[in-house]
Amino acid sequence: MNLQNLKGVGEKTIEYLYKAGIYTLMDLLTYYPYRYQILKPASLEEADPSITLTINAQVVDVGKVSFIRKNFTSYRFKASSYGKVFTVVIFNRAFLKPHMTIGKEITLIGKYNALKNTFTAQDMKLHPLEKTEIIPLYHLIKGIKNSLLEKLMIEALKEKEEIVDYVPPLYNLKYHLVSKAEALRLIHLPQEIDEIKKARQKLIYEELFVFMFKIQYLKLLKEKEVGMDKKIDDSLVWNFVKELPFSLTEDQEKAISDGLNDLQSMKRMNRLLLGDVGSGKTIVATVLMYANYLAGYQSAFMAPTEILALQHYHSIREVLKDYPLHIEYLIGSMSKKEKSKIAEKLQKGEVDILIGTHAILNEKLSFKNLGFIVTDEQHRFGVNQRDLLTQKGILPDMLFMSATPIPRTYALTIYGDMDTSLIKQKPQGRKEIITKVVKEKDLKEVLFKVLEVIKKGEQVYVVAPMILEQEESDLKDVYLLKEKFDLAFHGKVPMGILHGKLKKDEKEEVMNDFKLGRTKILISTTVVEVGVDVKNATVMIIFNAERFGLATLHQLRGRVGRNDKQSYCYLICNEDKERLKVLEESNDGFYVSEKDFEFRGEGDLFGVKQSGDMTFIIANLKRDYKILLQAKEDVIAFLQSKKYLQEQKYMQIINKLDFTN
Ligand code: ADP
Ligand code: MG
Repeated sequence: MNLQNLKGVGEKTIEYLYKAGIYTLMDLLTYYPYRYQILKPASLEEADPSITLTINAQVVDVGKVSFIRKNFTSYRFKASSYGKVFTVVIFNRAFLKPHMTIGKEITLIGKYNALKNTFTAQDMKLHPLEKTEIIPLYHLIKGIKNSLLEKLMIEALKEKEEIVDYVPPLYNLKYHLVSKAEALRLIHLPQEIDEIKKARQKLIYEELFVFMFKIQYLKLLKEKEVGMDKKIDDSLVWNFVKELPFSLTEDQEKAISDGLNDLQSMKRMNRLLLGDVGSGKTIVATVLMYANYLAGYQSAFMAPTEILALQHYHSIREVLKDYPLHIEYLIGSMSKKEKSKIAEKLQKGEVDILIGTHAILNEKLSFKNLGFIVTDEQHRFGVNQRDLLTQKGILPDMLFMSATPIPRTYALTIYGDMDTSLIKQKPQGRKEIITKVVKEKDLKEVLFKVLEVIKKGEQVYVVAPMILEQEESDLKDVYLLKEKFDLAFHGKVPMGILHGKLKKDEKEEVMNDFKLGRTKILISTTVVEVGVDVKNATVMIIFNAERFGLATLHQLRGRVGRNDKQSYCYLICNEDKERLKVLEESNDGFYVSEKDFEFRGEGDLFGVKQSGDMTFIIANLKRDYKILLQAKEDVIAFLQSKKYLQEQKYMQIINKLDFTN
């Protein structure tokens, strides 16, 4: 049934509904009330002029309408309630007057002023309230009144055969859930408050059940994917580890052996490597790329920005310098000629590791025998990696790395279909970063610290705010800051400036100068956010810190504290921001992310662009976490029973699944 055919839906209405993203009957029925107005008859005795109350009354005198000005009328009449007669004033309801007769029973909603013996009504109904009445309130849709929506819901609810219940009967029974049709009726037309509760129970559980069904189904599929069973001599890999200039943490070693197992098994690797900034994920990936090379395959390593790609290129080459691997990088800003040269080498198998941004996915490269893909710091949604890689019908192993410590609740949902390795330990000898929230007017204190560390030969990052979305103004801020610092240090401290508008070789030069210690301060926009690694930097200053989320600030802070020296992070802000204190308290990314979650809700965590699958209509991951876990367990059992294979509704969910990651 189409929305157009619904009684009460005209051309205009359909247009407004479409504009609001409501195209189908189910779109309409899942446009749930955001809250309810509960009308309960009260008596005037309870009146307090500040409280809105609902009373039953009788018309005593139908009164009159006065026109105050254009489109503004006031209607005054007399009514009585429990024997008390008073004046009623209501605005812009002149149209009610013809329906008023002496003795008529009505409902008034508004405030009563005992001194003036006047009831100022915001609304009234031309019938008495029998008992509690619950009115659903919908978020406004332009052009459509709340009362029309109520009517449309009543009509839509009649189309019972359109309503699909995704909860298997077993669980409806187990949790005493009402049917889907009943739940929808109760959420839109509740008679009692309890009914709203019942409706929500069902709808929340169902939404989470379907969500988990998708994730667990994908997981099932991935577990069946046939990868390449690579032959690797483990001892060569562990020898390589032994030759590293530092010894790995237990967590790093465990991650490597997890990865080695994946590489050597028939199953395709589909692993998430989760660890705080600086916990040493890149080295784990490098060891695994080396293992993949030993098996005779090529690897691709993708970073989120060009700067990072270059940096990874240099550091990975450094780690592998004594080994006969060919490492190349490919970034968007290279010339066509350079690119095609690399493409040719790739095809011939003359490159063992290719490092680049995610843009390399769009370059239509063909590898001779790509066996392993590492993705650094990329939120996995929206990247169509499978496309690129299945071109030859082979499925390379995939390792995703993330330093975005996701709250437990979230991890389960975003990464629910992957295996995970966790790096919790910090490399030995690392000190906690001392973090301080500083008001801009107290900047002097920070400048003293900057001078102090520079005298010791250490270096400083300064991150400039993003005041407006436009990059132009961004630039101004970076340059303005440089002026400020030049003034403070009498132009004696060499500084570099880094931002997104620089050309590739300019960026490289700026980064290089900083790495080599030629510049002491690096002022940049947030391009340094992820991964930049200069061990000698010990101070991070972030201006307008209040504009950033905690997780982002934590990431930025992770640029320092990468050696055994004491590091500092200053969060410069104008207002007192309670949430910034979290960073003063803790250096633990997981703790910070939980707090961030609390402060911001799941709305735009880390600015992660959520895929359509990640938005919920009625469930809330944080509030409904227990239900989510229950739903997960139920879904796993349901999938095992294979009953879904015979049911069209589940097949429809599956057919709509997005396999792009
Ligand atoms: P991540 O990618 O997790 O942010 P990196 O792999 O960039 O972290 O590691 C940060 C720095 O620490 C690098 O310079 C790396 O060489 C170094 N590092 C990694 N693991 C160890 C370790 N176990 N001991 C000492 N230093 C380490
Ligand atoms: Mg990294």
